[in-house]
Formats: sequence, C-alpha cells, structure tokens
Amino acid sequence: MIDTNEVIFRLDDVACHFRVEGNKKLKAVDGVSLDIHRGETVGLVGESGCGKTTLGRLMARIYPVTRGSIEFEGKDIKDLDTKTSFDYCKKVQMIFQDPYASLNPRLTVGSIIGEGLEIHNLYEPAERQKRIYDILEMVGLNREQASRFPHEFSGGQRQRIGIARALAIEPEFIICDEPISALDVSIQAQILNLLTSLRSRFNLTYLFISHDLNVVKYISDRVAVMYLGVLAELSDSEKIYANPLHPYTKALLSAIPVPDPEKEKSRKRIILEGDVPSPINAPVGCTFCSRCPYAFERCLVERPVLKEVEPGHKVACHLYDSDSSAVPV
Ligand code: SF4
Repeated sequence: MIDTNEVIFRLDDVACHFRVEGNKKLKAVDGVSLDIHRGETVGLVGESGCGKTTLGRLMARIYPVTRGSIEFEGKDIKDLDTKTSFDYCKKVQMIFQDPYASLNPRLTVGSIIGEGLEIHNLYEPAERQKRIYDILEMVGLNREQASRFPHEFSGGQRQRIGIARALAIEPEFIICDEPISALDVSIQAQILNLLTSLRSRFNLTYLFISHDLNVVKYISDRVAVMYLGVLAELSDSEKIYANPLHPYTKALLSAIPVPDPEKEKSRKRIILEGDVPSPINAPVGCTFCSRCPYAFERCLVERPVLKEVEPGHKVACHLYDSDSSAVPV
C-alpha cells in the first residue's frame, strides 16, 4: 500500500545559477520549493527555457545546487557519502527526452539494460539474462530483441528501451524529462499508457516534465507551472485545469485547442505580448511582470511568494495576496 502522505522529495528554496559571459549569472532555477509524495505523479510544465529540465537534473544530481536544499527520503542529497550516493543512483532514475541520443549505439539492448544490474550487483549473474528478458516484455518488447542494437529500433521502441533501462534496477522515483516529445503523436499515447501502468505496478513516483499541457493533464496527479526559474502555480491536476489562477497559467491553458468545433469557435485565447526575459537579466519583482496584462506597481519591485489560496492550490501572484487591493482576474 502506498503512503501518499510520505514526502519522498522535499525541495526548499532550490536555486541553480551558472556563470556565463564573464561574471554574469544565469539563474536557471531561482527559489523552487516543492514536496513530492510517494506514489504520485507531479507534472512540471512551462515553456522552453523556464528551468524545468534544470530542476530535474538537480534532483538527479547531474547539476549541483547553488542555494537551498533537496531532500530525498529525509536526507539532503548534497550530504550523501559514496555508499549512500550509490544507493541514490539506484533509487532515482531518469528517462531522457531524446531516445536516439540517450542509448549507447555500440551496446546491444541486453547490455544496455544489464549494465545497471551489474553495477548495482543485482541478481545472480545467471539470473540477470532472465531479468533482462522480463523487463523487455514488461515494456512491450520481446526477448529476441535483446541482441539487437539501438539503431535497429523505431523512436517509440527506443524510448521503451530507455524505460526498461531505468526500470531494471528497481528505482523508487523516475524523472521523466519530456519522454514523449521526440515521438510521433501516434506513439505518444502508447508510452504514456505504459508509464501509467508501470507506476501502479511498481509503486513508482514520477516527476513528469513537459511543455505539453494536454499530456501533463493526462498523466499527473498534481501540476506545477514554472516560469523563468520559479513556480507560478501548483495544484491538483483537476483544479488547475478547471480554475487556473495565475495569469500565466490562464494564458497557457487558453492556448489548448478544444475538440468541439462550436466551443473552439468561441474559445478566447489570451495572447501574451513579448518574449520570455533572459534568465541572465530576470526582472527584480515578479518574473512574469514584463508580459502580464494585470501587472501593477508592486509587481515590478516585489517577487510574489508561492502561497496557498485554497486547500491544495498555491499561486505566486500579488493579485491573491490577502493585503492586496487589486482584484483577482
Ligand atoms: Fe501579474 Fe503581478 Fe501577478 Fe506577476 S504578481 S502574475 S505581474 S499580477
């Protein structure tokens, strides 16, 4: 039985800054706080360059944290020693966006999946081959394909191999970084269904990163909307789609086509003016203020904090501050 109240990841004011162009700072992530509970899927959504992949990579320990802390099962991942670091790599796996680039072209599929089993010394050597076959079948491939090389597979099949590789070492948490965006639409649903069925079968927890709101809606229990390195809104999936609060979320959702010609005709799109500012030169106040149609003076000088405005629904916007005289839109 999954304890959905157990926090598996706790992110507190997490930032990741890079030095670029001499001494300038690129603030890819700049103060994200988020709890992820065991057994749930949190969708992390936003435009390209908003910092969502960087956040996933911080959690996978690919990038170091500049500020704040990331705790996994109660331990700060900065403080892991060699042994606990090794365990962490087993428990937290990543599925990458590009199924072409993420597989070693010189290894057979069996070797790609078996590598993790060897490194983590899982199963007796004689049983490993059976484990590889079992995992291949679980992800919809077959045992004969273990001796083939990645270039012999289609995009969807390669992503299945990526999933099999992550799954082979029995992780608890999987960071899915745009796992279907490089695939044909017809294959996307198959991979989403596979991830959903594997989650319940193995009690997995997912962080599902995507720029596609429809996909995130389909797979996520909760959705976090990210803009220029910070979280703009966080809520249960149903609530955020039925009643988005942040002006950026409203604009994103207004762009989703409706599969009903009549409703589609009357759908009002919110068109955002301007481009996303550079994370090297982010606004001092609300990161969205340069594009927000409702920005007022306070937004230019004070960064809004992510606050709960109704049970389970948080938003970072001054329109919803209890001391604000501005009227929520
Ligand atoms: Fe718009 Fe101000 Fe809210 Fe930011 S804080 S989203 S600029 S109204």
